[in-house]
Amino acid sequence: AAADDMANPSLVVTKDGRIKMEDAPMVDPRPDEVLLHVRATGICGSDIHFWHHGRIGDITVEGDCILGHEGAAEVVAVGANVSHLKAGDRVAIEPGVSCGKCFLCVDGRYNLCQDVAFAGVFPHPGTARRFKTHPASHAHRLPRGVSYQTAALVEPLSVAMHALRTSPVTLGAPAAVFGAGPIGLLTMAVARASGAHPIVITDLDEGRLAFARRFEPRCLTYRIEKGDSPEQSARKIRRLFAAAAREGSECESHGEDQGEDEAVDEYPMPQVVLECTGVESSIATAGYTARRGGTVNVVGVSPRITIDNVPFMHMSLAEIKLLFINRYHDTWPAAIRAIEGGLIDAEKLDMMVTHRFRLEEAVEAMTLVGGKTRPAGGDPVIKVQIVD
Ligand code: NAD
Ligand code: ZN
Repeated sequence: AAADDMANPSLVVTKDGRIKMEDAPMVDPRPDEVLLHVRATGICGSDIHFWHHGRIGDITVEGDCILGHEGAAEVVAVGANVSHLKAGDRVAIEPGVSCGKCFLCVDGRYNLCQDVAFAGVFPHPGTARRFKTHPASHAHRLPRGVSYQTAALVEPLSVAMHALRTSPVTLGAPAAVFGAGPIGLLTMAVARASGAHPIVITDLDEGRLAFARRFEPRCLTYRIEKGDSPEQSARKIRRLFAAAAREGSECESHGEDQGEDEAVDEYPMPQVVLECTGVESSIATAGYTARRGGTVNVVGVSPRITIDNVPFMHMSLAEIKLLFINRYHDTWPAAIRAIEGGLIDAEKLDMMVTHRFRLEEAVEAMTLVGGKTRPAGGDPVIKVQIVD
């Protein structure tokens, strides 16, 4: 059947690397669940990865699975035990449901639970469909002022929040963000809201950096030159921090390399580098960019199991801490408050949603994100959402 005729159209990835629309069965909520009408779902790089590569690390698509984990929804019905939500409430969906019993769950670090059921990751059906049941504890009510579109960004925003919660950023701390994709942009927004200034954001792609300057006019951007070594890139990025310290954040972006002799260490260098690409050379660059005693927090992930060229002795002698994050825990209530309270600007978040598709056109949305088609005018594709 055509998606337009389906009661519960859903975006399905198959084991043999295809995506298709399917009419998903309707089920009643169990006692601790809610039945949701998903109103907005963002598409993430991992959805594309499952489609094109059938796996991320050791998670493999072994059968049909409904994609999507960045969702916001309207409550349609509630199970017998649910008292904090009612039909008509608007919620943001927390996709990862952990076991609740292991020592990590008990400790509150439930993102590290090895028994997590994550929506949109095989075999757990995701949010890219009309109707979905979900544990009521993982449906977070939205205040009136927060739209479905904005609320569907709380999932990637949560990654950025967890990155900042684990990073030593205080008011006026210089910070660098590597990668200007959705995660890098959100990380920049949370870093700024957490007090970081100045912020230098990098990318290889000038279109993404131009978007970053519209998104956060006070940021400085630096385009990584492909031929540069990590040390060279780091030197140019550090020179930009030195320029910002001398001239303020009105200084020219795109730091120039004027040789090796300038004593940039006299200027405040980034206390934290938030690495949001997962690319080996960028992680190495981060190691050379952080100030002595600073922190590199690696948010980016990679299909590669190991990487080389981490500047081990440079980081050792400078006591640069190397951290990693795996998603988030306990971020939805704080994210919703931060948006509602204007600490994170909802209009700015909405600016990231550059393209919208009807649920019935979810395959077209995936094709756009997957890079098989390009929009007219060369507008950057930042975040694509499916709305219903
Ligand atoms: P994205 O691919 O849209 O953005 C990455 C950006 O990095 C791109 O704009 C790309 O041009 C840029 N880039 C590539 N190489 C670079 C380099 N050497 N220097 C500077 N920039 C470079 O991805 P995204 O959705 O923004 O996600 C960013 C990363 O975060 C991905 O690796 C993603 O898998 C990861 N991620 C991690 C978690 C986690 O829990 N740790 C959660 C979500 C996403
Ligand atoms: Zn657990």
